[in-house]
Amino acid sequence: MLNVNGLAIALDRHEQGADVNFVSHAHTDHIAAARRSRPVLASSETLALIDAAYGIKASGNHNGSMLEAMLMLDSGHMLGSKQLAVTDEKHGTKTLYSGDFQMRRSAAAAPIEVTDADVLIIDSTYPYPDVSFDDHEEVEAELQEWTLSALADKVVLFSAYAMGKAQELICILNRAGIRPMVGSKISRINKVYEANGIRLDCEPLYSDGGKLAAGGGNFVGVVDSSEIKDLAYLLAKYRGANVATAVASGWAKIFKFRADAQFPLSDHADFSQSIDYIEATGAKKIVTYGGSQRLFAANLRAKGYDAVPFSDAPANLFDGGFRHA
Ligand SMILES: [Zn+2]
Repeated sequence: MLNVNGLAIALDRHEQGADVNFVSHAHTDHIAAARRSRPVLASSETLALIDAAYGIKASGNHNGSMLEAMLMLDSGHMLGSKQLAVTDEKHGTKTLYSGDFQMRRSAAAAPIEVTDADVLIIDSTYPYPDVSFDDHEEVEAELQEWTLSALADKVVLFSAYAMGKAQELICILNRAGIRPMVGSKISRINKVYEANGIRLDCEPLYSDGGKLAAGGGNFVGVVDSSEIKDLAYLLAKYRGANVATAVASGWAKIFKFRADAQFPLSDHADFSQSIDYIEATGAKKIVTYGGSQRLFAANLRAKGYDAVPFSDAPANLFDGGFRHA
């Protein structure tokens, strides 16, 4: 928990006794507070996505005066994703929490707004200095080329996280003149994207009755990771389709997926983007946050940064006290 100005702020977690529940974005592993029907501090896009994806009507009605010293800034990760900046009123110390973020511009998200900070709490998804994402335009071009060539004699199915990654994929396919068919969860989420000005040219894969709407020919499908196996099976068995599967994920730099093709398309920062972000904020104290926080902090210390995992951070780090200790 982050304690500033006498308020306990939970960051993307459910925490007992929190005064403010910040939900940086609508991905499953960040919305625990909304599931517990607490009022949450989140962007309006995040609240709409939580409703569309999980059927949860989270309330965003925190007391206004509580939020005076807090500012939400775009994080570049997906639609509605935010960083949180909190200023300690007594010492003027500014703490910035990144949430999931990236420095590159995604086709389906607002670009990151970087601000200055004294203390930076940074997401630790990719803590590995030797993992670096390829040039985004090259990845995009490879993906488009492979898809167009596979489409000549195959049905192409992309497995994608239904929120964020699926919409970026649709934009990339649209730019290659491809109008993909999408699963029902992705269709629901697309409506929120379109309401927020992100144009997605695609059509539903299933009719209202749940039947496959795709005709006999080849097509490109973008489906939630949980649906791809059954769909590939049905297409092969009942349509005699020749199916090629593909994955677009930053983890493609690390793992071999069970798919015919994989593209390292990430919506997170890699290690070098994290360094760029730290430098851009000018933060002198770095606190790593998330699953790989110990490894990330150790790797940052090796580069000369004053970094500590969140679970070891002293309480006075966030209230300005560290300057006066
Ligand atoms: Zn995320």
